Amino acid sequence: MLTRFAPSPTGELHLGHGYSAVLAHGAARDAGGRFLVRIDDIDGSRSREDYVAALLADLDWLGVGWDGEPVRQSQRLGDYAAALHDLKSRGLVYPCFCTRADIAASLAAPHGPSGAVYRGTCCTLDAAMRERRVAGEPHCWRLDMQQAAAIAGDLDWEEQGQGMRAANPRAHGDIVLARKDAPASYHLASTLDDAAMGVTHVIRGADLIASTDVHRLLQALLGLPTPLYRHHALVCGADGKRLAKRDAAASLASLRTAGIDGAALAADLRHGRLPTGYSLQMP
Ligand code: GLU
Repeated sequence: MLTRFAPSPTGELHLGHGYSAVLAHGAARDAGGRFLVRIDDIDGSRSREDYVAALLADLDWLGVGWDGEPVRQSQRLGDYAAALHDLKSRGLVYPCFCTRADIAASLAAPHGPSGAVYRGTCCTLDAAMRERRVAGEPHCWRLDMQQAAAIAGDLDWEEQGQGMRAANPRAHGDIVLARKDAPASYHLASTLDDAAMGVTHVIRGADLIASTDVHRLLQALLGLPTPLYRHHALVCGADGKRLAKRDAAASLASLRTAGIDGAALAADLRHGRLPTGYSLQMP
């Protein structure tokens, strides 16, 4: 068994991250397996080194020890580019020149599991027009979902303890695989990383269940193995809302500096026991 915890260093970790890390770490250790940390720092404009240092200190404090060196997405850009190239050469992705404003302007844009579904405006540009615009205009690369889903056929994944779940990637529309400002989207990077790291069990928050539709499709298209998934309940504050990075009081760093015993907190989290005022809820 190999599990991982994959935080984005764009803010301080909170109790919800701690819960996720403790579950993934505990599952690996119980099985005599390995536990890796991956730093999802692909978004160069929002990722910060001081957050990386702080999150590693948080894990240390919780007694969540990782194997090897943390993996960094920012050092895996070549892999992402190669996968994108492969999908390009098979005609499964297309450049999109729409700005946020263009997309917002299509007010009737239907919503899917991961936000507004792109209406496919740029999917219909002809090859000559694409080539000309790619050379001079900022663009992202989108998956041609209809084609991709048709090639992949019916897909499912195993949700640990709950059996098989059908994946419904079509509901997401033509998702972005590489952005103007980041060489791979979360979906592409995370799917490739989990495979390259040899992750057998993806243990993460239930807010990412819908993303698994897309990850499953990318695995099928790129010939990657499908891990087992476990999407756990989310830690919510007194207001019943899931914690966000802005909830400073719930940050692990603030608990750590307040002198709370990290190992005791980790043991409680492992058993679903949360500090007063917090609860676990499925979205
Ligand atoms: N960096 C992602 C996040 O913090 C990781 C998601 C995942 O575990 O796949 O939400």
